[in-house]
Amino acid sequence: FTVLALESSADDTCAAVVTSSRQILSNIVVKQHDLHEGFGGIHPTVAIEAHQRNMPGAVRRALEDAKLMMQDVDGIAFTRGPGIGGCLSVGSNAAKSLAAALNKPLVGVHHMQAHALTPLLTAPVDQTPEFPFLTLLISGGHTLLLLATSKTSFEILATTADESVGRSFDKVARMLGLSWGTKGPGAALEDFCRKDTGDVPNVGSFPVPMPGKLAFSYSCLHSSIERYLASTQVPLTEGHRVALARAFQDAAAQQLCEKLTLGLEKLSLRNINPRHVVVSGGVASNLFLRTRLRAALDNYSPNVKIGLVFPPPELCTDNAVMIGWAAMHRFLAGDHDDYSIDLRAKWDISTILDVNSRTPA
Ligand code: ATP
Ligand code: FE
Repeated sequence: FTVLALESSADDTCAAVVTSSRQILSNIVVKQHDLHEGFGGIHPTVAIEAHQRNMPGAVRRALEDAKLMMQDVDGIAFTRGPGIGGCLSVGSNAAKSLAAALNKPLVGVHHMQAHALTPLLTAPVDQTPEFPFLTLLISGGHTLLLLATSKTSFEILATTADESVGRSFDKVARMLGLSWGTKGPGAALEDFCRKDTGDVPNVGSFPVPMPGKLAFSYSCLHSSIERYLASTQVPLTEGHRVALARAFQDAAAQQLCEKLTLGLEKLSLRNINPRHVVVSGGVASNLFLRTRLRAALDNYSPNVKIGLVFPPPELCTDNAVMIGWAAMHRFLAGDHDDYSIDLRAKWDISTILDVNSRTPA
């Protein structure tokens, strides 16, 4: 079964072709970092207009790379939510019109479910996560710790009380005056931490908020960095900025490690001991964080190794491959959505089944 998928929930315009035999035939991602850098974050109107300009070409290229004609595609998937309403509508209208015109089945997908299921597509067969697994979804809009019991059932164990970890990376990158480059602010901050500047002063460390509680909080972390910067009279040397970036990245990672371990402890009290942890979303492409999470899991469970699974970095950030893959089980079951299906700009991941079952197949 071959699916053409479209994704436009935030600032990347994406189209891809993926098959039920786990083949990625094409993966087009048109980034908009250069358009949003001046605003310091995603500007919704600018993003909508860019999606409108870029989506037709992305669809064309996805088909060309896959060496397929539109008629060869068996089903069309799109991101139904959550995301920026106007952005979602660009991919959704294109997908719905294509599906209706060609009389192909259509499936609307939950964006975070798609981030969570990506390793079922990309992990080597012997490392493919088995249900129930723990999922850490760390992206621009979310910081979620979930128990995944099936492709459609996710129990929220922890979410953020304020800001997402990705947005926190973005804000600190901006405070430190880093240019986004082609990869965006979070990746720019990770690269900056690796810079060898020789003189790196001690800036102290930042604690994990709400110890013992299954909740994330990131706004106090970047506020601390902001206060630190405001309290220094002279412009910081590069070494000083690197030290601050490292202290931030360290605290951001520490919080994810501690809450992940706490989640495992709480689940084990319920006799649930997941053998795999899936980490996905844009921040999961951070290699420093990957090492820290591995160490935290080994420390938590030194005798029984818990598998830690990440999508390849380019499939951690937004892409349409994950959307096509997350729709696959529904296509294969002959279950699909009506062409008039609505969007869900806000959509709680623990309600996927309730919402899908309300739409006519
Ligand atoms: P959501 O998935 O919650 O709707 P989104 O789709 O906008 O949000 P993603 O594309 O999944 O988010 O991830 C983007 C976020 O990941 C941004 O905040 C970005 O700065 C961050 N990010 C990307 N690469 C890295 C990295 N190497 N280190 C840290 N953060 C990163
Ligand atoms: Fe995303």
